[in-house]
Amino acid sequence: MCIYLTRHSLRITDYGLLGPIAQLVELPAHNRLVPGSSPGGPIKSRRVRKSRSQQEIKLNEQLKLLIKLQEIDSSILSIANKIESLPEKLKKTKTALKEAKTSIEKIKTKYDELNKQKKSKEYELEEMEAKIKKLKERTKEIKTNKEYEAHLKEIEAIEKNKYQIEDELLAIMESLDASVKELKKEESNVKAAEENFAKEEKMLEEEKKSLHSDMEVFKAKRRDIIGGIESEVYEKYMDLIQTKGGLAVVPTKDEVCLGCHTNIPPQLYNDIKNNLDIFTCCYCRRMLYCETLN
Ligand SMILES: [Zn+2]
Repeated sequence: MCIYLTRHSLRITDYGLLGPIAQLVELPAHNRLVPGSSPGGPIKSRRVRKSRSQQEIKLNEQLKLLIKLQEIDSSILSIANKIESLPEKLKKTKTALKEAKTSIEKIKTKYDELNKQKKSKEYELEEMEAKIKKLKERTKEIKTNKEYEAHLKEIEAIEKNKYQIEDELLAIMESLDASVKELKKEESNVKAAEENFAKEEKMLEEEKKSLHSDMEVFKAKRRDIIGGIESEVYEKYMDLIQTKGGLAVVPTKDEVCLGCHTNIPPQLYNDIKNNLDIFTCCYCRRMLYCETLN
């Protein structure tokens, strides 16, 4: 995940969804960035000519806005992630449909092959029957016993062969019956897979519309929020969003930064608990706040 800031817009690149997100942020004129950014440590308001209490209130307000902005950006990233994963969902259903179609093609090929074998055996059988008939017709013409015996043996041999072919034909016909049943079953599987694909496609299309609509709501909220954030603070935030996996502002709990899960020095933790300044984590540089901030 990577978010980077151009002069006028925030882009989230790794989602392949630059279109809907490219115009995520149109910075208000007074908030457009200036080159360079301040290194780590507390971020001070640039309005320094105020009393300490006013400055603290200002920073407190900035921190609150940053927390809200982080929530919005996390939601935007999550939506972008969901949108990106939609085609993958459809791919699974499409694969299932393709598999069902391949399976039915295989059964059809097997069915055609069995039909060919059946015809061939039927032809063989007809030929044998014709041969037997011809031989039987010749029986009357036989004069000697020896010839008669040889003649009968010839007929018997062909009949034996004929019975074998009949058995083979029977086996083929049984396989054909099984193949027809398989075909019917697979046809219903293909139909179900087609219906499932169409249904899923429609559902994902609706989900996509809904996600885009949610995205628009968050984008509008984002525009409102950044109007109140000072340029320097916003620049720091965007730098962190870009370099810290979309997470710039994180809470602290039990002296631990919940961004990098390392311990925060006790004195810094006490300062953070007051929530009157914007402190950053010594390790991950993310902006920290105490969850009791209100
Ligand atoms: Zn940290």
